[in-house]
Amino acid sequence: MDTQMLIGSRLEAGTETEEQVLNPRTGALIAGIAEASIAQIDAAVAAAETAFKTWSRTTPGQRSGYLLKIANAIEADAAGFAALEALNCGKPINAVLNDEIPAIVDCWRFFAGAVRNMSATVAGEYLPGHTSMIRRDAIGIVGSIAPWNYPLMMMAWKLAPAIAGGNTVVFKPSEQTPLTSLKLARVMAGILPEGVVNVILGRGDTVGNALINHPKINMISITGDVATGKKVLQAAAKSVKRTHLELGGKAPVIVYDDADLQAVVSGLRAFGFYNAGQDCTAACRIYAGPKIHDKLVADLASAVSSIRFNQQDDTRNEIGPLISKRQRDRVSSFVERAAELPHIKIATGGHMSGANGYYYEPTVVAGALQSDEIVRREVFGPVVSITRFTEPEDAIAWANDSDYGLASSVWTRDVSKAMQTAARLQYGCTWINTHFMLVNEMPHGGLKQSGYGKDMSVYALEDYTAVRHVMINHG
Ligand code: NAD
Repeated sequence: MDTQMLIGSRLEAGTETEEQVLNPRTGALIAGIAEASIAQIDAAVAAAETAFKTWSRTTPGQRSGYLLKIANAIEADAAGFAALEALNCGKPINAVLNDEIPAIVDCWRFFAGAVRNMSATVAGEYLPGHTSMIRRDAIGIVGSIAPWNYPLMMMAWKLAPAIAGGNTVVFKPSEQTPLTSLKLARVMAGILPEGVVNVILGRGDTVGNALINHPKINMISITGDVATGKKVLQAAAKSVKRTHLELGGKAPVIVYDDADLQAVVSGLRAFGFYNAGQDCTAACRIYAGPKIHDKLVADLASAVSSIRFNQQDDTRNEIGPLISKRQRDRVSSFVERAAELPHIKIATGGHMSGANGYYYEPTVVAGALQSDEIVRREVFGPVVSITRFTEPEDAIAWANDSDYGLASSVWTRDVSKAMQTAARLQYGCTWINTHFMLVNEMPHGGLKQSGYGKDMSVYALEDYTAVRHVMINHG
């Protein structure tokens, strides 16, 4: 197991406080890994600064070649990466191997192709005697910080467009889930020129804080909590750094009376609970029309009660535990507070599960009102709420009545109703008759307090590059 950071071309251990990396399925210690010192953070930034001088002047085709090699290396060791991610996050092995790893490999390959196909306004004589052209150039050194829910995928989403665009990066995974990042760090050390990617370890308020406040960092990219995003903005304000923020979500799901009930139930069973609901796009806030509501509550509760999540044989599991005891207790306290309300009925689930590990039962909270905490705050666990609406106008207004703006969905057989609703939802993404599906060609990112900045797609490449104008005077 790799436990060393990557600083320039050196793989080295941190020298500061040891962080315990735990197995969420059992609570057992996997490894104690020391975090970086200030001197090591400085060394990583210095390595990125030196590397930028040459990396930013490579051709898109050359950078593309490196990205393809990284994709191939991950694909060649898919089983090894998947096993490690499953161990560190408690994810079912089949979900990592069959869903995540192919999407991660495809992300690296997508940006390898995209960087060779960037487009812009045509060059031309917009002032007589002068030719103007647009360039898209690298921004510099990117400080990149990832959360624990999809460690290797977040690493791909952040590193691939950044280095494809000619930037160099100092990357910090979550202190809870560093293992696949460290495995990939070793792989990248054998592929990339020295210093293009550096991987440092540590907690948010120590190493993360030092990174976002580092004077040599030109751009900060973070996926995490809204509160963390605000700290990034404060740090960025000091030296006017660029920021790329992917923060939380509380995805509304509007189910009109004419929706295909069976499709809704099987969709929500999958998309509300995937990754134990630890997903910022999880279909967690359901608004159901008056005619479909009761049957939806009954059928969804029945379907959700059949989700397999705590089997000894992991190949049978559909979801895993929460990432930590803290996260499980947080989820549990949300449900407890909701259950105390007289109008709430826990239709299924509602308890912690298993003596070991951080399991929580897949839970459906029925009878929720728009003003309830369970409807308004991000739970980030295997819990969905259902709220009845009578007027479609209310459903749209309630869906938009949120601090978040990342993802949403609409379920109906009426194409016009679907399109009209989608146009009015204030979310970075709206799915129609599905939820959760991502493709590397399309952008992922939010509005409002879900942040801004796009992952995946050419829009991410644009975020990680700067538009520049060059004008030639013909004399
Ligand atoms: P978090 O904000 O606590 O941590 C995310 C990362 O930020 C970690 O690496 C952490 O060490 C670091 N960090 C924490 N405090 C910091 C500080 N003061 N300075 C610098 N870095 C700091 O979030 P989390 O608990 O790891 O992840 C879950 C959150 O991430 C949820 O709120 C979820 O919605 C959000 N999320 C959003 C997206 C998206 O695309 N919008 C994707 C995944 C997760």
